Amino acid sequence: MLEIPCPWCGPRNENEFVCGGEAERKRPRDPGLVSDDNWTDYLYNSTNSKGEVREWWWHVSGCTKWFQIVRDTVTHKIYPIKEDTV
Ligand SMILES: [Zn+2]
Repeated sequence: MLEIPCPWCGPRNENEFVCGGEAERKRPRDPGLVSDDNWTDYLYNSTNSKGEVREWWWHVSGCTKWFQIVRDTVTHKIYPIKEDTV
């Protein structure tokens, strides 16, 4: 079980959160101008990198705020991100 450090609530059990996926992935500004293949790629494909990955997390059972962390996908070690870098 992971302990996720919510910037507003402090460390909490992972079952209070929903992972929003990789933070580096950017939504196309105008989906109408993107090809179907590129839109499908955006919606369904993640890089699933090994090592440190920046992710969105939603504290759904707490403060209900979204925030980012860096999580090592091998060790599950978590590094909080300063608010001004999000
Ligand atoms: Zn929270």
